[in-house]
Amino acid sequence: MSNVILSSLLMVSSILLCILALYGIKNKEIPGALYFSLLMLAMAVHSIGYSFELQGNTIEQMYYFIRIEYIGTSFYPTLILLFAREYIDEKKVANKCVLTLLFMINVFTLIFVNTNSYHFLYYSSIALDFSLGFPIMILNKGIWYIVQTISLYFSLFYSVIFFFIRYKKSTGYYRKRIAFMLIGTTIPFITFFIYMLGAIYIDVSPFSYLVMSLFIFHGLLRYHSLAFMPVTYEMIFNSVEEAVMVIDNEKLLVRFNPASKLLFPSLNERKLGEPIHFVTELQDYNFDTNPKIYEFDKKILYFKIVNIGNDKGYIYMVSDITETEQSKKHLEILATKDALTGLYNRRYFMDNLYTDHKEGIFVMIDIDHFKNINDTFGHIQGDHVLIDFSKQLMQSFPEQPVYRYGGEEFAMFFESKSLDKVYEKIETFRKEIEKQNNKIIYTFSAGLAPYTNGNVIKAINQADKLLYEGKKTGRNQIMY
Ligand code: GH3
Ligand code: MG
Ligand code: MG
Repeated sequence: MSNVILSSLLMVSSILLCILALYGIKNKEIPGALYFSLLMLAMAVHSIGYSFELQGNTIEQMYYFIRIEYIGTSFYPTLILLFAREYIDEKKVANKCVLTLLFMINVFTLIFVNTNSYHFLYYSSIALDFSLGFPIMILNKGIWYIVQTISLYFSLFYSVIFFFIRYKKSTGYYRKRIAFMLIGTTIPFITFFIYMLGAIYIDVSPFSYLVMSLFIFHGLLRYHSLAFMPVTYEMIFNSVEEAVMVIDNEKLLVRFNPASKLLFPSLNERKLGEPIHFVTELQDYNFDTNPKIYEFDKKILYFKIVNIGNDKGYIYMVSDITETEQSKKHLEILATKDALTGLYNRRYFMDNLYTDHKEGIFVMIDIDHFKNINDTFGHIQGDHVLIDFSKQLMQSFPEQPVYRYGGEEFAMFFESKSLDKVYEKIETFRKEIEKQNNKIIYTFSAGLAPYTNGNVIKAINQADKLLYEGKKTGRNQIMY
């Protein structure tokens, strides 16, 4: 292969590297993309310089281009490390000290390459070789060359090791991306190694850069729509069903998402920078106490508030929980209320036996000869009697809950110490029921028992016992 072909290849590869670098700079929001672009630019400089070096005839000409190459080459270690640490997000090993040290080494490399003829620290000797048919520089390694190479190996080792660890830990598409990074960083590693062994005189590394770049570039940008952080945040912000509003510490609107406009239509007329209270639907919301629940226009809204940067601003996430609250209430009703009469059910009575009843009087009520009503008028009419009786119980005793204890049995608890007074109340009610002039006439019996000692069951049983005594001794009477 002639030096002209090699030079042309290097030119093409440097142009490609520049294009990739520009594309990377355009997408600099992707972690690592900016440093990778800088690395590609450095590689492009190296390639261009090398392309000219290969066409040189004298040591002076060729060394001139080596100096140009090193404008890029010197900084490979720093740029590789910067790229890898940012992409992997590892900053313990590749910390600021390490980075500074690496950068200093690279700066000295650039200086020493440019001043080599005075100290020969970088190349201990320089000569020309014509064995390939065109002049090739034979550069013997000086002390600083070794230092620079160590720094480069360090960065490459770092990248390969951490990309490998990350590859092991990751799954799915991210794993594929890391695989590309891993292969990409391994390629120059191998070619550097071959060159270092002295197996070939031509520095093949510039050619490997293009291959490496294509791999890494592919890994970085192939899934770029997913990895493109700002787009992702923006998409989340715009697509969540919750209304999300950001306000500053002066309570001025900083941002709001489309969902906010659906929940608070007046936001459509609002501009950023206006006070949040201009949003008519939120006029009654207290932005100082920030309550979690806010009701307006028959809607129940749940507010989740996030403080950003020590009171610099707040994110308000608002969801409409009207339906959930309604179904919760509905379920509560289903669980606690009796479907026929609307009274509290026996389960609710038993569940809260100890919590709801401290000191007072239990009243057990049972409709007399209810079976006869059913038998005479039918079950449906019997149901109506139960509904009607329940309504009258609720109207006559609005202060405390009334429970449907069984079929035609009811229970109540009066927070009263006076058995006589409760008796009076029930007796009055008994007379009202007795003198009703409905199609179906019925009566009820009741038993009353005081409760003080913590044994609820005993009190209920006692009331029950008295109730059945009332049944035995003629019905339509209150026993205590
Ligand atoms: P007593 O005076 O001794 O209390 O006699 P009773 O007939 O009222 O008592 P019994 O316990 O013999 O009968 C109660 C009846 O109530 C039996 C049952 O069919 C009826 N019942 C229970 N629940 C319902 C209901 O939801 N609807 C109707 N229509 N009847 C019911
Ligand atoms: Mg009964
Ligand atoms: Mg009965």
